[in-house]
Amino acid sequence: DAGGNVRVVVRVRAFLPREIQRGAECLISMDPISQTTTLHIPNDSDPANAKAKSRKVIEEKSFTFDNSFWSHDIEDRHYAHQAEVYNSLGEEFLDHNFEGYHTCIFAYGQTGSGKSYTMMGTPDQPGLIPRTCEDLFQRIEAAQNETPNISYHVRASYFEVYNEHVRDLLVPVVPNQPPYYLKIRESPTEGPYVKDLTEVPVRNLNEILRYMTNGDRSRTTASTKMNDTSSRSHAVFTIMLKQIHHDMETDETTERSSRIRLVDLAGSERAKSTEATGARLREGSNINKSLTTLGRVIAALADPKAGRPGKRNRDIVPYRDSILTWLLKDSLGGNSKTAMIACIAPSDYEETLSTLRYADQAKRIRTRAVVNQDHIS
Ligand code: ADP
Ligand code: MG
Repeated sequence: DAGGNVRVVVRVRAFLPREIQRGAECLISMDPISQTTTLHIPNDSDPANAKAKSRKVIEEKSFTFDNSFWSHDIEDRHYAHQAEVYNSLGEEFLDHNFEGYHTCIFAYGQTGSGKSYTMMGTPDQPGLIPRTCEDLFQRIEAAQNETPNISYHVRASYFEVYNEHVRDLLVPVVPNQPPYYLKIRESPTEGPYVKDLTEVPVRNLNEILRYMTNGDRSRTTASTKMNDTSSRSHAVFTIMLKQIHHDMETDETTERSSRIRLVDLAGSERAKSTEATGARLREGSNINKSLTTLGRVIAALADPKAGRPGKRNRDIVPYRDSILTWLLKDSLGGNSKTAMIACIAPSDYEETLSTLRYADQAKRIRTRAVVNQDHIS
């Protein structure tokens, strides 16, 4: 199984209290049969969209994705709960991990569109990451009873890219100490990696959930100090699964290693010009650097023939122009099965259109995943 397209799904969330208050209308409809998502023309009742409408011609637009999750109206019979997102995407990706493939699922969308809800969720409504962890350890426990000749080893790491710096989320924040940033290195075999990143061995679900929650809190702690960091930081949770198989008959030992990457990207909204001054501007432009580079990387990968004459486009994909794309290089255009969850708010015409276009382009990317297996003796 060499090539495969990036799997792209879309999820629309419910109204927030402030949207109900301003009389927002839902501009999204989804057809559950064709998986078509339509963005409708707003009427003038919602001031947020009226402004957009006054600036340019607005049309109805439709897009088709691999899945569309309707999470707008909990009363609707098509409402997609957290479990549904896991069952139709996370579970299959975990199958691939056990087969020995690397996978990556990233959530894209403007701040407040439901990225963290989808990836992390809440204690009552756990998202893709805790569900993946739970299923992972359930499968390992079941397999250990059935196939004692396979041993399983799980490690986890968690970092964020903030303002083009990498911060280890498994290292507790020390009050009154400057933040400690990690460097990126590139190995000929493993590709780019974060040097000295904490990678903890985990033996059970509770352990990994504790690391996940603490790491998340470390991301959030900084946010109250720095004016909502989490909307400006990219959080990358990684699980390494190693399966060591000993064949009794041939006395051979093989090792399968797979990497499960789960990414909660920074908000995709453009820095609003009114806020962009001084430190905020520098910060904003750096955050845009990772996100704009991601956009350029996706564009280059989506159109492999669009490269300069005499050069294959593959060679000019600007991975190294930002920290995020450099680190996610493999997941974006290499050895990985990859999915993107485009999260959209129900009533923001401009941002939603931009997210849907982005997602539409990502559909065209092909990756080349291979089973990562080695004979070790
Ligand atoms: P983001 O991480 O993209 O900034 P959040 O995940 O924090 O956005 O979501 C913004 C708000 O919307 C939160 O209060 C979250 O609980 C709520 N929310 C998002 N998606 C859903 C959903 N599918 N169902 C219910 N509430 C949601
Ligand atoms: Mg978030």
